[in-house]
Amino acid sequence: MIIQVAIAIPVNCLFDYLAPEEITTITPGTRVLVPFGKAQKVGFVVSSLEKAEVNIERLKSIIEILDSTSLISQKDFQLLTWASRYYHYPLGEVLSAAFPVSLRKGKKAQLIQEKHYKLSAKGECLNPDQLKKTPKQKQIFELFLPPTLSLSSAHLTQLDKNWRSAVKTLLEKDLLTLEFQPKTTIQTPVKKETALQANEQQSQAISQLTKQIGQFSVSLLEGVTGSGKTEVYMQVIQQVLDLGLQVLVLVPEITLTPQLEDRFKQRFSVALSRSHSKLTETQRHSAWLEMQQGHSSILLGTRSALFTPLIRPGLIILDEEHDSSFKQQEGFRFSARDLAIVRGKLLNIPVILGTATPSLESLYNAQNKRYKLLHLSERAGVAIKPKFLLFDIRNQKLQDGISEPLITHIKKTLAKKEQVLLFLNRRGFAPVQICHSCAWVARCHHCDTSLVIHYDEKRLRCHHCGYQQSLTIQCPSCKTGELKALGLGTERVEKRLYELFPDKKIVRLDRDSTQRKGSLENHLEQINQGKVDIILGTQMLAKGHHFPNVTLVAILDIDSGLFSIDFHATEKLAQLIIQVAGRAGRAEKPGKVILQTRQPEHPLLTILLKQGYNSFAQSALAERQKAMLPPYSSQALLRAYAANPIEPQTLLNKVCEMIKSMSNHNTLVLGPVSAPMAKRAGNYHFQLLLQNNQRKNLQLLLDQLIPELYRLKEAKKVRWSLDIDPVDLY
Ligand code: ADP
Ligand code: ZN
Ligand code: ZN
Repeated sequence: MIIQVAIAIPVNCLFDYLAPEEITTITPGTRVLVPFGKAQKVGFVVSSLEKAEVNIERLKSIIEILDSTSLISQKDFQLLTWASRYYHYPLGEVLSAAFPVSLRKGKKAQLIQEKHYKLSAKGECLNPDQLKKTPKQKQIFELFLPPTLSLSSAHLTQLDKNWRSAVKTLLEKDLLTLEFQPKTTIQTPVKKETALQANEQQSQAISQLTKQIGQFSVSLLEGVTGSGKTEVYMQVIQQVLDLGLQVLVLVPEITLTPQLEDRFKQRFSVALSRSHSKLTETQRHSAWLEMQQGHSSILLGTRSALFTPLIRPGLIILDEEHDSSFKQQEGFRFSARDLAIVRGKLLNIPVILGTATPSLESLYNAQNKRYKLLHLSERAGVAIKPKFLLFDIRNQKLQDGISEPLITHIKKTLAKKEQVLLFLNRRGFAPVQICHSCAWVARCHHCDTSLVIHYDEKRLRCHHCGYQQSLTIQCPSCKTGELKALGLGTERVEKRLYELFPDKKIVRLDRDSTQRKGSLENHLEQINQGKVDIILGTQMLAKGHHFPNVTLVAILDIDSGLFSIDFHATEKLAQLIIQVAGRAGRAEKPGKVILQTRQPEHPLLTILLKQGYNSFAQSALAERQKAMLPPYSSQALLRAYAANPIEPQTLLNKVCEMIKSMSNHNTLVLGPVSAPMAKRAGNYHFQLLLQNNQRKNLQLLLDQLIPELYRLKEAKKVRWSLDIDPVDLY
């Protein structure tokens, strides 16, 4: 039998191998070890053939079949082949993305075994007093009472560091026995809370959603921040768990997992696993197998956890579905949201997308009745909706970005012993360092961008390639001028806040201030204990965190988001404003949201603040329709870069010619143009945007184009990538 194998390398073809003679069938997805060049590689079985396409004599044999059957279900195998075709990404790489690193390397699909000790039958009958001559043994022996208790090495070490020699003796005396148990990452439930009494809207959503259990459907749960979406999820999850089924919950950010994990642990009495990039390889290996083997019932994870096999699939939930981190931005550029829906359909289970600010794509799908739309329009419990205030800062005196009226509001809030949250989406001290006399600007030599001042570290840094140098005060160009900081970053605002509010506790949350492991958690804890007065931060703050005592939220500068060449920018800005606003007044206290702008009449702002997110979304959709932009059309972005600017352009020009010669003429081809930031990390980036009103037609074109692209000699000289449904045109 000849087996077609997919291998995780960047070529779009499969490889044929001979199966061992005794093998008659082999399931797609099974891992095999195969000779490849001079090395051995782990590959995935795709299909078996009666006849080879090449001379059978030249075929090599599979070295080893690593799994007795495929570790992923045939439905999931279908999902991954579908994804490989849709994203035009090599099947080997796509399959490999579904497995944890350990299994990609060929490790056994086995949970790691660890030593456990417990009382033997003889030990169970022993009265501990009989050991009183050997007090250490007696002390250790008593740790195992009541007799059903089994303890792992790690657990024993926690109880008593010096357990080893006593345990050894007790084993020799046949009072203890040793056994191996799978080591899991499962979180032990602490169930102590029962479901809340759902309000009217929640009850409706819950009953609609429970009706979907057991079949495929997509529901868009649109609920303002604090409206109790999580409560809805939990009540639906409970019903799925009661049927003995598993639940997959995806969130955009790792920092959101602990919060949700705590709430789940308090609510459910089932095993919970988690999977995200901050865990070790071993932990991810375990989580994957815990779900695959059914030890665990809930998996909480980020984007890549989507592919975790479920032995009893019941429900997929994507929280904050609008968030662009569900789209992978390098390598296999998949959208976890879109693939979750494909997976739900294949597994015939419901998918819930939840958010306060639905993406335009999802709203469009809801309007076309592809998704069921469920609303939670009121905040749950007693919380009241925040009030928006637009501060026109034209001709206003600003203290590092903070206007006088804002200072007044901050003072008033602090006087009431409530917390303030300030948002600025730029880290560092200032984005530009400029000479006061000759206007020279410190630029990155590798990128088309200026270096960002980081005063705390006395360095200039490039936020795009990581280049850094030390900070100087004298201009290297005119040698006499003094260098000044231009623009605002969180460090600068923080410094000013200390001057304005010297006796207040201020915490800055951005990527620089939270680098140390655990420091973000630490800060969040301090905030929640009320030890912090002013919280200042970036994007990081916009997502999901719950700060009950924050009653004033201010966005210092929204103007930079109003003018962008990327048509996604306005949608992202509107979502950001509403999400940041959602941090205000989540408990009993009413919240206020202040936006500082030089564009108070901007139509986006007026419609968003006067009529709400939904009206904004409707008008944004109308604009997209007029311009035939997604979701009214489909896009694919072909990017190419190289160390010189010629080769990427040559390739993209060649691609343009190829498209013209193809029959599919109604695809709009825009470019090639240089990327919005052309030079990055020493490479020149160019791009070609393809757009078609029919997704199917664009796919047909790419089906023809991409295999040829792999063969082009021009493509070998550059790095190129294809981004289907790009969420970011940079
Ligand atoms: P969301 O996920 O929509 O932001 P949450 O589910 O976190 O909202 O709920 C916000 C707050 O309201 C939480 O403190 C939650 O305990 C509370 N809450 C939710 N539903 C109810 C309810 N039915 N009755 C009382 N309080 C509720
Ligand atoms: Zn100068
Ligand atoms: Zn750079």
